Amino acid sequence: MQNDALVKELAVCASAETLLAVMLKHHPDLSIPVAVEAIARSAGIVAIEDAEPEGAACAMTADLHKTRGTISCAPGMTAQRRRFAIAHQLGHFLLKAQRGDRRCTNRDLGESRRDTPHRKEEMQANRFAAGLLMPKPLFVPFVDGLGKPTVTHLPTIAAAYDVTLEVAASRYVDLTHATCALVFCKDGVVRFSRPSRSFPPLSIGTGDTVPPAVRAATPDDKIAWQETEVRDWIEMSRNVRAPKILMQILSKANGFQLVLLFVNAAAERRADEEAEKMATQSPKFGR
Ligand SMILES: [Zn+2]
Repeated sequence: MQNDALVKELAVCASAETLLAVMLKHHPDLSIPVAVEAIARSAGIVAIEDAEPEGAACAMTADLHKTRGTISCAPGMTAQRRRFAIAHQLGHFLLKAQRGDRRCTNRDLGESRRDTPHRKEEMQANRFAAGLLMPKPLFVPFVDGLGKPTVTHLPTIAAAYDVTLEVAASRYVDLTHATCALVFCKDGVVRFSRPSRSFPPLSIGTGDTVPPAVRAATPDDKIAWQETEVRDWIEMSRNVRAPKILMQILSKANGFQLVLLFVNAAAERRADEEAEKMATQSPKFGR
């Protein structure tokens, strides 16, 4: 049911972040998995239909001033993708600067770039969707409560928030304080990666063959941290000391693998300081 006080406050929000803050204020008892359809209805969405939008995965139509809207999702979407699609279209509906009806593809639902006006709007809708389905005030304590990072936390998070593993992974690296990266692989090929902000630039990308250590991993392996060959993953620079990278691999029988890469940032800082000290103490030749 539409919540008029909420709608009034949402109408003056200009960014995904302010929309989310207002949403949380009006839904203080939010629990997980977030009831995305009820929230969409409280904010002006009058119907959520399962109908194939032509050439798209999901769509949103609204009246001129975007006071009432309808969302449609392609039938056959998994429940988790459908939830994200609804949250994404709600983002388009509520971001008032975004004009007109929307038809969004699967690519749009994964967009994280902002280098064209279209991509920027898709990225904003995705940011809103991630923040709505995995609200920061709930997500951060939930992840902290799981204990030290391990790759098996990702399926746990995805199940708890009823989102896809990819969506959970993106939110995880966005909000974690750890220096880490998640690499999604299928049949020995990298599909995509999600590094945290502080992780060094990855040298491996979509379509690349996975490193031998990943290829050798099987679903029967015990999941444990192992040291990895740094040059398999990141761009090496001659002038910069390479960090130590630890890795965990989650392998599934269907050929899917999720790799968690981890850098101990505190240990790396200490090692850098040590290296600097050694350099200044060593005799200078050639003077
Ligand atoms: Zn979109």
